Amino acid sequence: MALRLDGKQLASELETRLRQEIESGISQAGRPPGLAVLRVGDDPASGVYVANKEKACARIGVASYGSHLPGSSSQAEVAAAIAALNADDRVDGILLQLPLPAGLTEGPLLEQIDPDKDADGLHTLNLGRLLKGQTGPRSCTPAGVMALLARHQFSLEGKRAVVVGRSILVGQPMALMLQAANATVSVAHSRTKDLEAITRQADVLVVAAGKPRMIGAEHVRPGAVVVDVGIHRLPRPADAPEGTKAKLCGDVRAEELEEIALALSPVPGGVGPMTVTMLLVNTVVAWCRRHGLDHGLEDLVV
Ligand code: NDP
Repeated sequence: MALRLDGKQLASELETRLRQEIESGISQAGRPPGLAVLRVGDDPASGVYVANKEKACARIGVASYGSHLPGSSSQAEVAAAIAALNADDRVDGILLQLPLPAGLTEGPLLEQIDPDKDADGLHTLNLGRLLKGQTGPRSCTPAGVMALLARHQFSLEGKRAVVVGRSILVGQPMALMLQAANATVSVAHSRTKDLEAITRQADVLVVAAGKPRMIGAEHVRPGAVVVDVGIHRLPRPADAPEGTKAKLCGDVRAEELEEIALALSPVPGGVGPMTVTMLLVNTVVAWCRRHGLDHGLEDLVV
């Protein structure tokens, strides 16, 4: 059986560490860390994600300064809300919840977030810092994958890593982080020919293609570590009782890899909880930096 890369368990351990960092720094800082999640419109999935982030903040003692703008908001109104959060001294991290309603352009709004308050690590300056090996908030999902690999003491030094997907959100920063850890990295995408031949070279395979159950036994070398970033809601069977929760799946056919992979991250309970935790890490680290506090979170700031 493949070792389970349990993100839920690790997220809970990291929350304990974050709570302790906050408790030890709060008297010097004079206030708790603050995270502002800015939501625009009523995308239902975003509502669930924002609620999860706010609950996680409450668990560790981060103050939430969420604001919810109507879907009819103009680009200038959203920009003004970001400017207000940039100027708000209680706020250490800002997150603009995506997707935005039609008519709004996310690029300039993401760029407007103060790079030092960029809780998602997606500002151009912070992606540049990652590229150059400089410190700065890191993209949460790939940083969560790195923490998951580190927790299980998989050395990446000299290993072959393959990332399937090249998005700015996941694939690109993932490849940079693996490379910074001295893996030899290949990135596959929708135009890649003979994907199987590439993925079968991987000692560590990270799949972020956004295609349900795309990767199976034929793609994986025996003994590989496989991280499934994908998350998809499966259609509910027509005969399911009222109120049945939708099942989730990833980009990987997990059942085919149980006897092949050395380790595998589950969906749900793998990368998802780690993404939320890294948002908290970015916020707490920004708070420490603003108040000149030492912290013991260096191992998470890859
Ligand atoms: P995007 O759709 O932005 O990117 C998908 C990438 O996969 C693209 O680079 C695309 O290539 C590539 N791709 C698509 N089809 C194939 C294929 N057949 N073979 C090889 N590569 C392919 O998705 P994201 O990066 O934003 O997200 C990826 C997945 O991760 C999604 O399921 C998303 O829901 C999930 N996710 C999960 C998170 C979590 O916390 N668990 C957080 C963020 C995302 P090309 O560039 O050529 O189009």
